[in-house]
Amino acid sequence: GVVDVKAWLIAAIDRFQLQAEAQSVAIELDLLDAGTMPGDRDMLDRVLDNLLSNALKYTPAGGRIVLSARVKRNVLEVRVADTGVGIPPEDLPHVFERFYRVDKARSRRKGGSGLGLALVREITELHGGDIRLESRVDGGTTVILTFPLQEDWS
Ligand code: ATP
Ligand code: MG
Repeated sequence: GVVDVKAWLIAAIDRFQLQAEAQSVAIELDLLDAGTMPGDRDMLDRVLDNLLSNALKYTPAGGRIVLSARVKRNVLEVRVADTGVGIPPEDLPHVFERFYRVDKARSRRKGGSGLGLALVREITELHGGDIRLESRVDGGTTVILTFPLQEDWS
């Protein structure tokens, strides 16, 4: 299918707006002529649901989440940036592994099983894309997805 990027992002924010307000976390949209991308909207919804769920889980009250999209040289770049607790550098290479969770005690309190990012990576790669993560302890986390815009998708 063909996915309208703006509609995809706005719908995802809508699904988390109430939870964000309840947690006193702001979610902002930063969109630059994002257009459309080839892909499966249901799968791509699961990508943003997992990333926004993580961002909200690990961002304390007063924080901010920015969802952004822009086209750079035939590649769509989607970012989910938060001002949350961040991920220690030694854990960063492992967060895409199934069942891997940083700081078991902290993560157990927050719930979850450690499958979200593994699924996000799988769906991203199915779309011919890449995922990378930038994070600093107490400095927040940014997940960067890149999708090739000329990819064939049926
Ligand atoms: P699930 O997604 O299955 O409910 P989960 O959120 O713990 O559980 P993942 O989404 O795969 O699992 O994330 C793996 C781990 O990476 C998390 O347990 C958490 O420690 C860390 N992590 C993921 N996203 C963030 C984030 N935005 N800020 C801080 N830590 C994060
Ligand atoms: Mg998760």
